[in-house]
Amino acid sequence: MAIIITDECINCGACEPECPNTAIYEGAVDWKYSEGTSLEGNIKLPNGEAVDADITQEPVSDEFYFIAPDKCTECVGFHEEPQCAAVCPVDCCIPDDAHVETEAALLDKQKFLHN
Ligand code: SF4
Ligand code: SF4
Repeated sequence: MAIIITDECINCGACEPECPNTAIYEGAVDWKYSEGTSLEGNIKLPNGEAVDADITQEPVSDEFYFIAPDKCTECVGFHEEPQCAAVCPVDCCIPDDAHVETEAALLDKQKFLHN
């Protein structure tokens, strides 16, 4: 499953540079599927949704650092454990029950993001 950042985040920014998928953004910042991935132009996400990878997306949170769930692979394909959770000083990067995925699905997602 994806990782989610809770409202216990202290906005320290330590997690952002650690993400191999550029899935972490500062609160209130627009984001794109194309940033830090090989995605470009019109794409179909693994969940079937069609999006333009180069179009800016709305922030998930205006107050805290956030993770774009469709870009988070729980670090599968890159690292043994979620790097954001490993560096977070207040342990507020936790499994997102709303985005549960199998290890195989996460690996497919990683390949999709970096094809
Ligand atoms: S678990 Fe890994 S891929 Fe997901 S947001 Fe954290 S650092 Fe990025
Ligand atoms: S490392 Fe933790 S506290 Fe710091 S910005 Fe990331 S989620 Fe927030």
